[in-house]
Amino acid sequence: MKKPLIIHTFLFAIFPVMSFFVKNIVEIVTIGLSLAFFKLSVIIVISIFFALILLLFFNLLFKNIHKSAIFTTIFIVMFFSYGHFNIIVKELSLKNIFESVSMKLPVFYFIFCLSLFTLLAYLLRQKKRIFFTLTRFLNIVSIILLCFSLLNIAVFFINKSKNDAILSKECSSQASSMPTKPEEAFPDIYYIILDAYSSEDTLKEYYNFNNHNFINYLKEKGFYVAEESTSNYAFTSLSLASSLNMEYLDDLARTMGEGSNDLSPVWSMIEKNKVASFLKSRGYNITNIRFSSWSDNFFLYFLKTVVPSASSSSRWLNEFDAKRKQELLQLDELKQIHRIDNKPNFIFAHILLPHGPYVFGPNGEAIEKDDGDGSNSDKYYIEQLIFTNKKAREIIDTIFSNSKASAVIILQGDHGRGNNKAARMRILNAYYLPQQKNSMLYNSVTPVNTFRIIFNAYFGVSYGLLKDRNYFSWWTDSEKPYRFIDVSDEVGYGRGEENIDKLYADAISNFYIDKVKDTAYNLKIVNGFSPAAVYFDGNSAYAKTSLELSALKGATIMFSVKPDAKQNTSIVAIIDNGHSAENDFVLQSVDVSKHEYTFHCFGVDSVFNLPAETWTHFLVSIDLSKNTFDVYLNGKKYSSSQIPLDSHFGSVPLTFAKLSKSNERYFRGTLDEVFIWPRALSKKEIKIITGNVK
Ligand SMILES: [Zn+2]
Repeated sequence: MKKPLIIHTFLFAIFPVMSFFVKNIVEIVTIGLSLAFFKLSVIIVISIFFALILLLFFNLLFKNIHKSAIFTTIFIVMFFSYGHFNIIVKELSLKNIFESVSMKLPVFYFIFCLSLFTLLAYLLRQKKRIFFTLTRFLNIVSIILLCFSLLNIAVFFINKSKNDAILSKECSSQASSMPTKPEEAFPDIYYIILDAYSSEDTLKEYYNFNNHNFINYLKEKGFYVAEESTSNYAFTSLSLASSLNMEYLDDLARTMGEGSNDLSPVWSMIEKNKVASFLKSRGYNITNIRFSSWSDNFFLYFLKTVVPSASSSSRWLNEFDAKRKQELLQLDELKQIHRIDNKPNFIFAHILLPHGPYVFGPNGEAIEKDDGDGSNSDKYYIEQLIFTNKKAREIIDTIFSNSKASAVIILQGDHGRGNNKAARMRILNAYYLPQQKNSMLYNSVTPVNTFRIIFNAYFGVSYGLLKDRNYFSWWTDSEKPYRFIDVSDEVGYGRGEENIDKLYADAISNFYIDKVKDTAYNLKIVNGFSPAAVYFDGNSAYAKTSLELSALKGATIMFSVKPDAKQNTSIVAIIDNGHSAENDFVLQSVDVSKHEYTFHCFGVDSVFNLPAETWTHFLVSIDLSKNTFDVYLNGKKYSSSQIPLDSHFGSVPLTFAKLSKSNERYFRGTLDEVFIWPRALSKKEIKIITGNVK
C-alpha cells in the first residue's frame, strides 16, 4: 500500500488563520489587503513552523511519522477548540458547576484533552495500517474545510465588486460642479467622531453628570452646540455611512432586505464616502485617523479572536493597553495636521472614546474595565468621558492656534450609550464654523445634514436639508441591522410638527371664557385657540373658564400678555380659592412703574418683570405629584420652586383679569394664546410648545 502524503496537519494549522480572514474580511479590506496579506502570511508561516516542531516532537515519541501527524492534528484541533468549549460552557451556564467543584475551566479542559489523547494513543498503539487510512481521511477533511474558506472569500469579493460598481455609478452621477474659489481659500475641516458621546441632557438624566463646563467651554470658543441633536442610526457603521454620504440608508436597506445581517456594503459606503470625494474634487487632502486596532494590533487581535483562552489577564495580550496606546496616538495625530502645498485638509477621526472598554480614569490614569456591568460601568463611562473632554480641549486649542481659528471643527457622537432609545440616540453635536456661519445651523440638526450644511456654507452649493429622523436598529440576529424602526417621535425632542399639533390638541378643548360681566366681551376659545387677542379695559371686565382644577394632580397654564402702560394694580390670572390663600394661584402686579409682577402659587412667591406694551409669553407648569412648579418667561425657564406638601387646587375655576368678588381689581391690557393643560407638561413638551410661540 502506498504511503499517503501528510497534508492535513499543515492545513489544520493554517485553518484558524483562514477562518479569521473570512470572519473579519470586511475590516481586512478596509485596512488594505496588501498589509493584511503580509501580516496573515507571517502568521501562517509561524503556524506551520509550530506544527512542524510539534510533529517532530511526536515523532520522537511514536517513531511513526503518520501517527505523529495525526496526533499533531488532534492537538491543534484541541488547542483551537478551547474558545468554543468556553462559549458552550458559558451558554449552558455550566460555569457554576465548575466553580463549585473548585476546578478552573482551563484545568478541566487540559485534563479532559490529556485523557482523550492518552486513550487514543493507547487504542491505536499497534495498528499501523489504520494510520494510512486516517491520514487519507484527514487530508480530505482538511482540503474540504479550506475550500469552504476560499469559497467564502471568493463570494465576498464578487459581491464587493458588484457593490462598488453601484456605488461608483452613484458618485459619478452626482458629479459635483467645479470649485468656484481657489482651493487655498477653503477651510480645513475636522470631522471628529467621539464614539458613544451622549448629549448634555442625557448625561444629566441618565448618569447624573453635569457636562456644563465642557459645553460652556465649546460655546465660549464660538462653537454652536446643537442641544437637541440625535443620531440618525443607533450604531457606528450605519451612523457613519449615513453622515459621510449625507443620505439616509433606506435605499440600501431595501436592497439588502430586512433579513440581512451583511454590513459589508455599509463599510464600503464609509470607505468610499461622498463627503471625501466631494472635497477631493475641490483639491482637499483627505486624512483618515482611524482606530487602527487592525494595522497596529493585528497579532493581538488575531490571538484574541482565534484563541479566546489567551485572555486579557496576560500582560502581552492586553487589549486595554492596546486601546490606551492607540487612542493617545490618534488624539496626538489630530494635533499634527498641517497644510501641505497649501492644500486644504479634510481630517476624519473616529476616536473610540468615551466608548468602552474603559481604559482611562478622569485624569488619564490607566484602568481596565469592560463595558456592560450596569452602574459600575456607568461610572467608568463618565470618567472616560471626563478624560475625553480634557483631550478634546487640548486638540481644539491646538487646532485653533494652528489654523488661526479658520478651520471647521465638528465634534460629534455617532450615537449615545445603552439600550434606552433616547439615551442611545441623543448625542453631542457641536460645530465650529468660521466666518460666522452659525446661523445655518439649528438646534435639532442631525448628522445626515451635517455636511449638507457645511458644503452649503463654504462651497457655494445648495444641498436641500433632509428631514431629521431617527432610525433605530440593532445588529443581533433577532434585531437585524436593516430592520429600521422610526423612533423620531420618541427620541427627537418632539421636533416633528405633528407632535406640536398633538400637544395643542391635548390642551383643554372647548373650554370657554364666560361672558364678561357688564360688557360685551365674549371671548370664546375653541381648542385652546382664541381667534383674536382680547383687550381688557381694566374696568370690571374679566373672563372665567369653566375649568375645575381641584381634582387634578397638575396643570400647565400658558398665555401671552401685554399689560397697558396706563394701568394701576391689576390681576392677570387667578385661581382664587376664596378664603385659603395657600391654595391660590395668582399673577398680579405689585409695582407698575417697575413692571414688577408677583406670581404666587400655593404659598410660594416669585417676582418678575412683565414690561408694559410688550408681549410676554408666560407659562407655568404645576406638578402636585412632585410638589414643584416651574415658571417660563418667553420660552426660558425663569424659576423652579417647591410647593409645600399636600397643597391642592381650590374648587374655584381659573379666572383671567379679575381678583375675587370681595376685592375687585381688574386687568388692563391684552391677553392672547391662552392654553390650559389638565396636567404638568414634561420638559420636552414645554420645549416644543415654547419653541413654537408665534
Ligand atoms: Zn460608535
